[in-house]
Amino acid sequence: MTDIASSARFAGLAPMVGNTPLLKIAFEFRGRQRFLYAKSEQLSLTGSIKDRMALHILREAYRDGRIHPGDTIAEATSGNTGISFAAIGRALGHPVRIFMPDWMSSERQGLIRSYGAEIVLVSAEQGGFLGSIRLSEEFAASRTDVFLPCQFSNAANAEAHETTTGPEIWAQLESAGIYPDAFVAGVGTGGTVMGVGRCLRAHNPAIRIHPVEPAESPTISTGHKVGKHRIQGISDEFIPAILDLSLVDPVIAVSDGDSILMAQKLASSLGLAVGISSGCNFLAALQVQEELGPEAVVVTVFADDNKKYLSTDLMHVEPVRSMYLTPEITLTGMSALPRVCSFC
Ligand code: PMP
Repeated sequence: MTDIASSARFAGLAPMVGNTPLLKIAFEFRGRQRFLYAKSEQLSLTGSIKDRMALHILREAYRDGRIHPGDTIAEATSGNTGISFAAIGRALGHPVRIFMPDWMSSERQGLIRSYGAEIVLVSAEQGGFLGSIRLSEEFAASRTDVFLPCQFSNAANAEAHETTTGPEIWAQLESAGIYPDAFVAGVGTGGTVMGVGRCLRAHNPAIRIHPVEPAESPTISTGHKVGKHRIQGISDEFIPAILDLSLVDPVIAVSDGDSILMAQKLASSLGLAVGISSGCNFLAALQVQEELGPEAVVVTVFADDNKKYLSTDLMHVEPVRSMYLTPEITLTGMSALPRVCSFC
């Protein structure tokens, strides 16, 4: 692929990635009308926010000469990142090899394969998720034509959100004469919360930026892997290198059962077929609004759609526990702040 060919392919993909509507969700909570804002990332090319990161990492790697036409893109991931690199990597003409634990759902494997990527399944005996990372690194070390995006440590991950998600949020709100008081996002790599946080803080240093994690598995607050949870895409087994806790506000904890109930409610009440981490983010945004006041403008992201979760607890009746917030929420409507025209 020549430079001209590669830039034409990037230009073809760019309008399909990001630049999503910002939803204004109306609801009643404890007898009062409220609003929260969420970027509808489920509308992106492959149905998740990770397209932004994959496109930006590959564009930067081309710019710096770290990837060449024909190189194999190799990444250890069990979820949306693999799907995004599979789609965008193949669209740019690269072989793509995804290393993932062998217990991941057949939908995930099928989605990655559907884009023409190869999957290397890694058993628990081979080390599961950490084993997948090791094997991808060994594969890269054994050849000279492999590009490792390294999403957990690559600064271009957060930069993708600092230069797209964050500016879009600011511009979409500003166009309606609204200014954000807080942004919250569940942490997988930390790219979203750090990148959007940096952008919004540049506009308003006093804005609150909260990482979010599952209450059942508070890896970030404790510094190591604890417990198990069902909010796929956030809280892996370690604190990612990109996440700098000294630059953000306190971590918000949300229960996985409450997140499932909220994601179900968003789909069944508003037609927003989102994943479990979107339910989690909505509830974290509500917790912050409770602290700041019912009029506070709190923004989050709906990170992906629900198609990867059709064989999970998202499709089952979830027991309600007394401290859950979802049963007290009645979703009453939504409107969308339109896409910005920064790329037009
Ligand atoms: N939700 C879902 C469904 C995800 O796949 C991810 C990415 N792993 C996140 C949230 C978290 O995003 P980030 O990696 O930018 O922290």
